[in-house]
Order: sequence, then C-alpha cells, then structure tokens
Amino acid sequence: MQGSAASPGISVAKAYLIHEPHITIEHKEISQEQIRDELDLLHKAIEKSKLQLEEVYHISKENIGEDKAEIMMAHIAMIEDPVLAKEIESKVMNQRFNAVWAVKETIDEQAKIFEMIDDPYIRERAEDLKDIGNRILKNILGIPFKDLSNMIEDVILVGEEISPSMLAAADTKHVKGIISEGGGITSHTAILARNMDIPAVFGLKGVLNTVKDGVLTYIDGNAGVAEFDIDSQKVSEIRKKINEQMSIKEKLKELVNTPSSTIDGHVVEIAANIGVPEDVARVIENGAEGIGLFRTEFVYMHRSGMPTEEEQFFSYKQVLQGMNGKPVIIRTLDVGGDKEIPYFNLPKEENPFLGFRAIRICLEDKDMFKAQLRAILRASAYGKARIMYPMISSVDEVLAANKILEEAKRELKEKKIEFDEQIQVGVMVEIPSAAINADMIAKHVDFFSIGTNDLTQYTLAVDRGNRSVSKIYNSLNPAVLRLIQGVIDISHKMGKFTGMCGELAGDPKAAILLLGMGLDEFSVSTASILKIRKIITSVDMKFAKNVRDEVFKFTDVSSVERYLADVLKERNMEYLLNI
Ligand code: PEP
Ligand code: MG
Repeated sequence: MQGSAASPGISVAKAYLIHEPHITIEHKEISQEQIRDELDLLHKAIEKSKLQLEEVYHISKENIGEDKAEIMMAHIAMIEDPVLAKEIESKVMNQRFNAVWAVKETIDEQAKIFEMIDDPYIRERAEDLKDIGNRILKNILGIPFKDLSNMIEDVILVGEEISPSMLAAADTKHVKGIISEGGGITSHTAILARNMDIPAVFGLKGVLNTVKDGVLTYIDGNAGVAEFDIDSQKVSEIRKKINEQMSIKEKLKELVNTPSSTIDGHVVEIAANIGVPEDVARVIENGAEGIGLFRTEFVYMHRSGMPTEEEQFFSYKQVLQGMNGKPVIIRTLDVGGDKEIPYFNLPKEENPFLGFRAIRICLEDKDMFKAQLRAILRASAYGKARIMYPMISSVDEVLAANKILEEAKRELKEKKIEFDEQIQVGVMVEIPSAAINADMIAKHVDFFSIGTNDLTQYTLAVDRGNRSVSKIYNSLNPAVLRLIQGVIDISHKMGKFTGMCGELAGDPKAAILLLGMGLDEFSVSTASILKIRKIITSVDMKFAKNVRDEVFKFTDVSSVERYLADVLKERNMEYLLNI
C-alpha cells in the first residue's frame, strides 16, 4: 500500500492493530439477587488486572530496568488497596449499581479528589487511577487491553490515527514503525516519529480493515510504502537492506564531533528539534551543536492538568544542563491547530490552524504565559537558554509578549532569583505576514527561526495535515523560497541570526540550497543531524550559492526538486535520501 512518507527508515515487524474500542458504560439498577454475580465479576476482574500488571512489571523490569519499572509497582499497590475495592463493592451492594458503573463512578470520584490537589505527585496519581479503572472495566467487559507502554516484542503500530501523546507514551524500544490511515507528514505525530527515529507511513486509507493483527509487515518510511503478510524471502531481502542502511549510519557517526563547516570554512550550526527532556540523550549522541527548537507543548501533554511553574522549570533546566552550555531555543507554548490538549478546553473551531492557538492563547492567558516565561528564565541560570515566540503575525504581538517577559524578569529580580539577564529573544517566522514584515519585527528581537511547516501551509493555503491537498504542500515551492530568502537577507542586513526549525531544514535535498541562501542554523530531527552535516561538510560556499542561483530560476516546484536531487547525485550523496 502506498501512502505518504512521514518518517524515514525501513523495518520489519508484526502489525499491531490499534482498534481503540469505544467503551460504553451503562448504568443499570441491579436486583438483590444479582448482587452476588456482579461482585463476582468485579473480584475476578480485579484479580485478573492484578495478574496482568504483575506480568507487565516483570517485562518492564527486564526492558527498562528496575527503577523505571517501579511505576508498575505503584499501580499494583493501588489495585490491591482494600479501600478502593470496598468503595466499589459498597456501590454495588448499597446503591445497587451494576459492577461497571460502580467502578466508573468510584474511579471518577477519587480521581477528581486527586486532580484538585496542587501537588504534581498526587495529581499524577489521578492518571494512574484512571488507568487502573480502565483496565478493570475492560476486564469486566472482556475487552482485550492494548497497552502500548509495555510491549513484549517488536511491533509496527497500525491505527486509524496515532496521536502524538499516544506515541509519546508508547514503549518506543519495541515500536519499529507507525502506519496510520490519516495524518500528514508534518503533523506532530510524524515529527515525533522522526525525532524518535521510527519509520512512519501515513494516509493508508482502509488499512485497519484489510490487515490482520500480527501479520509480518514491512514499512519503508522513505518511499511511503507498507507491505503486509510478507514471506520469508522478502524478510531476508529487507534484513539485508536494513544492514546496508545501518552501515551507512555507522559511517555517518564518524561526523559526530566534526564541526559543521563547509570545505572553505563557512560555519553554520546544526541543531536539533526536541519535544521532551528525554530527547537530549539522542541529541548529544548525534553531535548537535545546540537545540534549535524545544517544542514545550509536549511538556503540557498527556497529563490531566497544567504543569506548574516548578515542573516546567525542572524540565527546561534538565534540557539546559543536559546540553552543557550549548544553546537551547525554548519555544513558548504552541497549543492549538493539530495539537490538542484536552484540559485547555479549547472551543471547537471551523479552522483551527487559523484560529485560537499559540501566542494568541498566551497573550490572552497572561498568567499562564508568565509562569512559563518565569520557568524558562529561572532555568536560564543553568545553561544558554533562548526564548522563542511561535505564530507571530505582527510587531504588536512581539511587543505584547516582550512586555510580559519584562514583567516576569522584574518579578524574579524582586525575589532575587537568578536568571540570564542577557537572554536572547526570537520569533518563529511561520506566518507570511511575519516574513513580509521581517524588517519591522527584527528591531525587537535577537533572532529568527523559520518554521517552514506552517509557513508553507499559510503561504500556499494548504492544510499541512490534509492528504487530499498534500501534493500542493511543498516547502520548495518558489513562493516559499522567496519568502525565506527575504527573511535571511533582512535579518543579515540588520545584524541578526536566522535559523530554520521547520522540516525543510532536515531535508537532505534542500541542504545545499539553504546553505547558499545564507541560513545560519539548521534545526532538524535527531535522525537528520548527521545527514545534513555530511552534506554541509562536503561542499563549498561558491558551489552552494551557484545551486541557489540555479534554483531561483525555476518557476515550478518539480523542476526545483529534480534539480536538487541531481545535484546530490552528482556529488555522490544521493544515498542520503534513502536512509
Ligand atoms: C513550523 O511550523 O515549521 C514549526 C517548526 O512548528 P510546528 O511544526 O511545531 O508547528
Ligand atoms: Mg509551526
């Protein structure tokens, strides 16, 4: 099946179908005679859940070590808690609730109590409780449990839609690929997959109905292809291909400590895009010179409520300390669009990408925004932090955001809390108006980072996640390239620094072109760091500028793509397109 290439790499593993069933829980009033049966159902389900959790604990202890597996012990302790069982039993006996309803009601009530408490540790217990409740419910109803966090074997996830938070919570050691019916290649699931180095193919309509759970599946995230129920000959061919790719990757590893400089000594920065502090290990492993985009929304995701300033401070500090003095651009919250966070209760919108998102929300909810800015400022005492505002469309927004930043700084100073007073502030250029008015905005910021994912969507009026228009979505479109060139030229004229953190920066085809256009920083997914460094270190600026001039003669995107692929081929670097 052919879909879109969402994250590079190939692999082979069993298909793991995610048919998330919709559980309907009905409230039934039971009779005196039914009490025994319902209690029996309940006790059996609790016992089964306990055994399952013990099994999961043993597996995860093997996989991730005893420390991390401790979480499962906490779950086991909760399910063994006699108070919880008594509460559910009492609802069956005294209120005559059927077992599932009694479980649901008890869990909801208790989770609510936890959620109201300000201590993050206790609040997280609400999530654990809900997890346990869900497990008991599924066991009563006989619904098989798909727990992605603890896999026993390698799998390729196949789902209708795999959400960013579902992937972030999955046992990524065993997730060898992602296949989904929906999703666009610049959706956040795709970005996360690239950061985790997991091949992904999206847009395989009807795959859930045609593929059987457990069939041996091949995924090629470069070509956007998936094959199901493959035979053993195919498996050995694929294994050979995987080995070839591994040896290319091994060879690229030689560049981990090589400076990102062209043959003639022009130095650029190759930085990484991250979503959670745990990504830093892979950033260091791949030799990035900094972090060009920390998507902080992931710090806000998969939890039941807003992270406190303290929790955020801890996450940002962890990243800065991990990067050991290398620059880290922390982007302020970019929620909305395709990044839904349930507890924000954002209204349903006709056009979420054009609606209430990112800086627009932050400027309305000043207290929330200021708490994030304070957390970043406090963390800046532990490394080289930079602040970046997303979705800037006007100078006014920059001024408003900077005003709140000044307030945050003042508050910290009053409390004598240390922070980097010289902290640099920049904006993402991802809305055409910001590119057009870059000269006006440049006066109020230290740097720009071009977000080609959104810039392409807004310039070409094409939804980045909509498959039916994905042919039009291309960041190499001459209109997008002109905007990018304009931003780089203006920023350099005004003595500022311009990076790029959209996916175009990590596309090997575009690297020489962007170098020739004068880009200062390439912020890419961890899987692309060494590929881009390989290209940068193999050319000189004269060649790159020449490529740039040739590209700007084309009036259509296919000619640009063909030409850039030819350039890589001539330089014997075409293989970088296939890993
Ligand atoms: C972008 O729009 O290019 C970008 C990097 O931001 P995000 O993908 O998080 O919207
Ligand atoms: Mg964006």
